[in-house]
Amino acid sequence: MEIIKSIKDFKKVRKDLKEVGFVPTMGALHKGHLSLIERSVKENEHTVVSIFVNPTQFLPGEDLDKYPRKLEADKKICELAGVDYLFFPTKDDIYFEDEVLVKAPKQSGYILEGHFRPGHFDGVVQIVNKLFHIVNPTRAYFGKKDAQQLFLINKMVKNFFWDVEIVPCDIVRDGDGLALSSRNVYLSPEARQRALLISKSLKRAAKLVQSGVLDTKTVKEEMLTILKPLDVEYVEIVDREFKLTDNIILGNTIILVAAYVDGTRLIDNIWL
Ligand code: AMP
Repeated sequence: MEIIKSIKDFKKVRKDLKEVGFVPTMGALHKGHLSLIERSVKENEHTVVSIFVNPTQFLPGEDLDKYPRKLEADKKICELAGVDYLFFPTKDDIYFEDEVLVKAPKQSGYILEGHFRPGHFDGVVQIVNKLFHIVNPTRAYFGKKDAQQLFLINKMVKNFFWDVEIVPCDIVRDGDGLALSSRNVYLSPEARQRALLISKSLKRAAKLVQSGVLDTKTVKEEMLTILKPLDVEYVEIVDREFKLTDNIILGNTIILVAAYVDGTRLIDNIWL
């Protein structure tokens, strides 16, 4: 595995590569990231993983400074998984003064996550667009865990005529159901137990839907009852185009939760 810091060096290497799978990450890699990486290694001649804790997608007061950074462990994980190039650019190389901006769409980029973290998706599309220009991937791998992000990246690819195949990857969970996240390290054992209510509420929703309950109001109410001990930001049910719906249609629905557990903000969802 080659470790590349400079954009210029990466571009030089890229010239000689044909098929490239790309996994953009913010590091502190876990089995969720690993599932994307392993899939890319399987499906592409070469795999590039980037690690960049992107400052523009954090809002003032969020956890940018304390976001976990584990470069040495990340290197080992990538090496063992068969990654060809680990790219970790610096903030100063990526961003410029008074630069040209790519923005998230005004509607779908400012609901749900974008409503509670206004501007977050501006930073996401800005960085992913830059990384795509540098890496020029054949395929890029994104987790369904960040469902709205995945939707917006697909939109960006379409709107900017990117010739990149976006590969959605299933959510990886711990044995107890908690969706893996770099932020789970913030949770005390007690908080982690309470955090399980999130996946529990989604499981309950899936069960209700399976039993024929298709109105979103009933499903949301049941979920909110389960989630009562948490500081819930939103429970919403959308179709795959991220439009709010009154009726659940199997094969076209995503149920999303965002909640704080002892000050740690967690998101999770289920695709039905
Ligand atoms: P991050 O490092 O949090 O920016 O995540 C990098 C990529 O890994 C994103 O596409 C995430 O959606 C994906 N990811 C994070 N957690 C999981 C998970 N538990 N299961 C599947 N994909 C994940």
